[in-house]
Amino acid sequence: MSEQHVLVLNCGSSSLKFAVIDANNAQELLSGLAERLHNDDAVIKYKIAGSKHQNALTAKADHKVAIDTLVSLIREHKLADSLIAVGHRVVHGGEQFTGSQVITDDVIAAIMKTAQLAPLHNPANLTGIKAAQQAFPALTQVAVFDTAFHQSMPKHAYLYALPYALYKEQGVRRYGFHGTSHNYVSAKAVEVLGLANSHRIITAHLGNGCSVCAIKDGNSVDTSMGLTPLEGVVMGTRSGDIDPGLFDFLTVQLGYSSQEVSSMLNKDSGLLGISELSNDCRTIEEAHLEGNTQATLALDIFCYRLAKQIAAYLVPLSGLDVLVFTGGIGENSDIIRAKVLTHLSFLGWQLDPQKNTEARFGNMGVITTADSNIKAMVIPTNEEWMICQDAARLAKEL
Ligand code: ADP
Repeated sequence: MSEQHVLVLNCGSSSLKFAVIDANNAQELLSGLAERLHNDDAVIKYKIAGSKHQNALTAKADHKVAIDTLVSLIREHKLADSLIAVGHRVVHGGEQFTGSQVITDDVIAAIMKTAQLAPLHNPANLTGIKAAQQAFPALTQVAVFDTAFHQSMPKHAYLYALPYALYKEQGVRRYGFHGTSHNYVSAKAVEVLGLANSHRIITAHLGNGCSVCAIKDGNSVDTSMGLTPLEGVVMGTRSGDIDPGLFDFLTVQLGYSSQEVSSMLNKDSGLLGISELSNDCRTIEEAHLEGNTQATLALDIFCYRLAKQIAAYLVPLSGLDVLVFTGGIGENSDIIRAKVLTHLSFLGWQLDPQKNTEARFGNMGVITTADSNIKAMVIPTNEEWMICQDAARLAKEL
């Protein structure tokens, strides 16, 4: 079989994650991260042929500089000739995109238009697309949207109870995010457990951002993030759901500006806000085990809210076959998984403590006992592989 490699790019607001992946066997030939972009200490870290490297980028290096550096690396390691496509993670696809798209001028215009709904992310994604088009003009460029998987949500799940004109005229609705991850791990659960086409799955993607998704027969029917990735469960630094009346209280009574409220909800809340310690789950778990009561409280609120969200999805699914944990926290924190399953023990499942401890650090596995009627399991996510597969498929179809 001829070599078919895909360059996968994920441009965050101040970072660029990248990988060159073999579309035939998922092997990562090159992977890495350029971070602290726009800062004096911008850096690029990468792994190739099993060895790790780190190089400083020029001060205030932007996405274009990072991608140019990446392109030089790709050329230097003779990976350019085997590339068949570039796959771009794009955060917001609005209502227009229900699946991955070959990037054309029209697709770029639509991503630009949707930037209003994702001002931190879509412009960075577009920078990545433009730089990759310049570097590899002959390659098919494909956009894979975080929102696309959730476009199957019914109207009663995605509309807010707001004046309808806001939806019709401004697109104010729930879109959901992490779609590539929810799609990947739910499909993997179906494959691994040999589930029938008719199935009910809840996926909990718990990373720095956290979201839960209800999946019926392969389709997202509800998810916890909304118009923006701020809605839903408690996250590392984001509050998740709050009373919208808080906005008035903070601005009118306490004199906050709207930027200060937004910054507080996005950057100073969640696990960090409650623990007053860190947004990093590992640090919080260590402090909890040492008796730090704020850390324990942060974990308790995180798990309680997560369990409530999972229970809520028994409504759209009319039951449940399997709950899947993924993302850095979901894949590693046996403490959080155990607490969540305990809150939901009325569902009739029983945690297997040994399997729960074993399913960490990249290990996949069922964590409930064999006689549990509903299963809970851990599946490491692989969004890059999903992006690689979609990009390769669309490139071949052209
Ligand atoms: P991102 O959303 O940025 O991709 P990740 O999916 O990598 O983030 O998840 C990051 C989170 O995973 C952090 O809160 C980190 O503390 C947590 N995490 C990573 N390893 C562990 C671990 N061994 N135990 C508990 N939490 C972990």
